[in-house]
Amino acid sequence: MMITLKEAATKILAANKILITAHVQPDGDAIGSTLALMQMLRSLGKEAEIFIDDSVRKNLHALPHFEKIRRPKAEEKFAADLMIVLDTSLDRIGVVKNLTDAPILNIDHHVTNKGGDFDLCVETEAAATCEIIFKLARELEADITPEVATCLYTGLATDTGFFQFSNTRAQTLAAAAELITLGVSPNFISEQLEKKSLAEVRGLSAALNSLKMFYDDKVAGITIDHATAKTFDSTEGFIDEIRVIETVDVAFLITEKAPKICRVSMRSKGVNVAQIADKLGGGGHVRAAGCTLKTSLDEAEKILVAAIGEAL
Ligand code: AMP
Ligand code: MN
Ligand code: MN
Repeated sequence: MMITLKEAATKILAANKILITAHVQPDGDAIGSTLALMQMLRSLGKEAEIFIDDSVRKNLHALPHFEKIRRPKAEEKFAADLMIVLDTSLDRIGVVKNLTDAPILNIDHHVTNKGGDFDLCVETEAAATCEIIFKLARELEADITPEVATCLYTGLATDTGFFQFSNTRAQTLAAAAELITLGVSPNFISEQLEKKSLAEVRGLSAALNSLKMFYDDKVAGITIDHATAKTFDSTEGFIDEIRVIETVDVAFLITEKAPKICRVSMRSKGVNVAQIADKLGGGGHVRAAGCTLKTSLDEAEKILVAAIGEAL
């Protein structure tokens, strides 16, 4: 059931022991929003714990209270009276789904989030889930400390490509400005986030070497095989290097995370890639979306190029 942010706040205030989670392969928005909400809830005297069913790429480890994020064991249980799922629909939270039978509150900004038999507060105009959590702080009358602000700013910055993408709106910048007033150091966050390991830069170089063009250069794609992919923990920003090609409408990156597990990222300047991803079992936003294809790298490329061709 769709509910407003105010109603979401009422549900949160009525709960005492709260489990917070976000999507696997967590990004700055997933980690920033969960850490910010955990701190806000604890300051209101609630018990709040974060469980995420995945490892987190290194350059997010510097966020305040990062060490409190727990990775659940397969059979683990956690007694809670509310589970809050951030920045994703429920199909991307892994085993966290089985941790508790508590009622679910899902707060998200993805257009492809279809909800289910639980409370859903989705704001597709929000640039990031962190933009929604920023507003939620007001509804909860929770303090935005400099540490909370740092987490929220990280989500705003990462989901907007540092305030460059089309999802950047006046409210996003207004929130960012207020967060800076509240104590955020934008250059500290940028410096943490831009860090890459040597293996990652070598991986980027290999990925760019794999560049292929399709459909009269309207589509550009790069791939990373498993042997290369296992040497580093993030491909953040790789796709942006080919999205910039002037003829390109759709850019894609396929990463072979494990044999027959291919993670697809798409970016577009016009075509609705959320729709393409949705058809392939994934989701996302109109101009940034993704999915996972359980095939070989070659097969994944064929499937994806065909699906993009249909949408063009
Ligand atoms: P990425 O390319 O990983 O940065 O993802 C782009 C956008 O698509 C993000 O908003 C993701 O949350 C979303 N997305 C990526 N993969 C999936 C998936 N398998 N299912 C649903 N949404 C996805
Ligand atoms: Mn995310
Ligand atoms: Mn997000």
